Amino acid sequence: QLLADCPPDVEGLGRAAWTLLHSMTATYPTSPSSVQQTDARQFLSSFSRLYPCWVCAEDFQQWMRDPCNAPRVSSRDEFGQWMCEAHNAVNVKLGKERFNCARWEERWRTGWKDGSCD
Ligand code: FAD
Repeated sequence: QLLADCPPDVEGLGRAAWTLLHSMTATYPTSPSSVQQTDARQFLSSFSRLYPCWVCAEDFQQWMRDPCNAPRVSSRDEFGQWMCEAHNAVNVKLGKERFNCARWEERWRTGWKDGSCD
């Protein structure tokens, strides 16, 4: 059966966006240069203003404005943890389960330790 090529709804857009965002942290350098760190911060700033679900974008900007939630981009691990926390903030808002951030790298970089992605 052919899949219909339709514009994405908020859910489909969200799944695609999180795939991009977490994959970006998974390939981020372990020791990024200051230029790479600036690029990451600028990307997040633009992303949070251009994300094409306006309610989502406004809430995400507001969440990032809290000094406790400022992007942490000084290493792959920090950036990955931060993105996981950002995603969990949305999960909580939507009444979904929190993801265990100790396992973000298994989900988005290495595959699960039980080999289920091999
Ligand atoms: P998703 O939440 O899209 O997650 C995809 C996969 O990521 C999951 O299957 C899981 O394997 C993994 N995952 C889940 N949580 C984490 C985590 N914390 N860290 C790492 N991996 C994880 N939707 C709204 O209705 N209202 C909003 O205000 C809203 N704001 C959003 C803000 C942003 C910045 C983004 C990117 C999306 C937003 N969304 C919002 C979309 C919403 O987050 C979901 O993407 C959408 O509801 C589909 O959810 P899902 O259950 O399919 O899985």
